[in-house]
Amino acid sequence: RVKYQGKNHYRIYKPLSDDKSLRKLAIEKDIYSVIANEELEVYYQPQIETDTGLIYGVEALVRWNHPEFGLISPADFIPLAEATGVIFPLNEWVLRTACKQLKIWHEQGILIYMAVNISPQQFYKEENLTTKVKEVLDECELDPSFLVIEITEAIAINNMDIAIRKLFELKRLGVQVALDDFGTGYSSLSYLTQLPIDTIKIAREFIDEIGTASTTSAILAALVTMANDLNLKIVLEGVEREEQLQQLMRFRSHYMQGFYFSRPIPLEEMNAMLNDMCVPWLLKKI
Ligand code: C2E
Ligand code: MG
Ligand code: MG
Ligand code: MG
Repeated sequence: RVKYQGKNHYRIYKPLSDDKSLRKLAIEKDIYSVIANEELEVYYQPQIETDTGLIYGVEALVRWNHPEFGLISPADFIPLAEATGVIFPLNEWVLRTACKQLKIWHEQGILIYMAVNISPQQFYKEENLTTKVKEVLDECELDPSFLVIEITEAIAINNMDIAIRKLFELKRLGVQVALDDFGTGYSSLSYLTQLPIDTIKIAREFIDEIGTASTTSAILAALVTMANDLNLKIVLEGVEREEQLQQLMRFRSHYMQGFYFSRPIPLEEMNAMLNDMCVPWLLKKI
């Protein structure tokens, strides 16, 4: 048994780190059966139109319902899924689940958009990514323009040549492309003009500090102006508080997303939220 031998030694035996590595081992093993065991679930987070405050679309965010550890966040298992190759069937499962659900909403007259995240591995290594997306769109009989593919700014600038080719391929299907976590990539803004993108999602980091750091609002103002000049749609990510919202209304953004409006929620809750909305308005608007 380990004995307490003073402050310095004690640190080594912190039970938390043991639990963590055990958990990590279990997760590494279990990731392979995540789809077969039906442990994945898609949560949805609404995106709000700034002018009207109404739901314009939702982002699909995957969750892992682990039988032992409960809900695991994608930040913890997406990297693992990437390392093991599980990411390919995983992302296809998310895409299909989200698109099937979107078709159901459209048939109910709820004409919202659906955003789905694509990971780096999938974007660069999956040669038939475009074919896969097309298959799912056809299978669900969806209007492609209602699907928004989100890739991070980091993915886009990692290899510009491939990114440009792949994004044009995807765009040819008629889907939309959004650049996620924009502003965190330390990239030159001029590269944006080379990419066929429709929307930029300005990273939470810029929204977090709004009102507290004046440099942040200067950068945000510049990003928003630039995006508007390039005719790109703007989503402000990670809006959490009323004061932030008030500050953010000064900037000309099209959409907002964040815990202030709603956390990502399971399907039943999303359905309830959509049913509370003014559906005729959505029909009129789109
Ligand atoms: P992301 O695409 O940038 O998604 C936004 C993340 O920010 C989500 O975390 C969401 O829950 C969180 N978020 C939204 N509003 C707020 C807010 O107001 N405050 C704060 N603090 N956080 C907020 P989540 O669901 O944990 O996902 C994390 C990342 O994992 C996503 O970042 C995305 O890159 C990735 N991811 C999620 N689902 C999928 C998926 O199905 N496939 C792939 N490839 N990646 C996914
Ligand atoms: Mg995203
Ligand atoms: Mg994001
Ligand atoms: Mg992110």
